[in-house]
Amino acid sequence: MSRLFGYYPYPMSDPDLPWRQPLLFQPVETVAPFSFSRLVDETRAIWFPEIEGTVEVRFGSFGPLASTWFHRMGWDNHIIMFHPILNRPDIPIEVVRFIAKHELTHLLHPEGGHPPCFWEDELRVGPERFAVWAWLHANFRNPVKGTRWGIRVLRTWRGRTPARLAPYMPHLPFDDPPWRVLCPEGGAQLRFLPAWSAGPAPLSPG
Ligand SMILES: [Zn+2]
Repeated sequence: MSRLFGYYPYPMSDPDLPWRQPLLFQPVETVAPFSFSRLVDETRAIWFPEIEGTVEVRFGSFGPLASTWFHRMGWDNHIIMFHPILNRPDIPIEVVRFIAKHELTHLLHPEGGHPPCFWEDELRVGPERFAVWAWLHANFRNPVKGTRWGIRVLRTWRGRTPARLAPYMPHLPFDDPPWRVLCPEGGAQLRFLPAWSAGPAPLSPG
């Protein structure tokens, strides 16, 4: 399975993320129609109530579409870094939400990497992963490149990214059996899995 997102440490040729230096991050204006920090907070509250510590969100050009940095701002104070290629007005929130799920899943696996149990946990919280990957491959085919370290955003991504992104529409049922046949009980696509949290856990102040 291809890796779309990164877990660090990455190859030494990468610029290193400074330790515990929040002021070294350039402030980045969010142009997406939602807050990445809030999206991570909500995603964590709903699907990852067991994660302790704080998770801070930054934009940074560090190779993959997103990456998780353990204890980077102090013990139990982690950073999820999103590549600025995702910071645009037409980025679908569903795509970023799934990427956030992927990165938060890393916090459940401090051993690092993507062992089979990682993919199991990711699928449990993110069954939309195949649709999101299909969208990413279709829209970011030119600005990203697959490497042995996973998929990485090219430094020339700005000139390679499409002017307009396609909307996120997982599978339009053009000639499929109608829903009343596929889902005779109706509305099955919106049913929560029993293992999912019934509601958001209370957010703890950072
Ligand atoms: Zn990963």
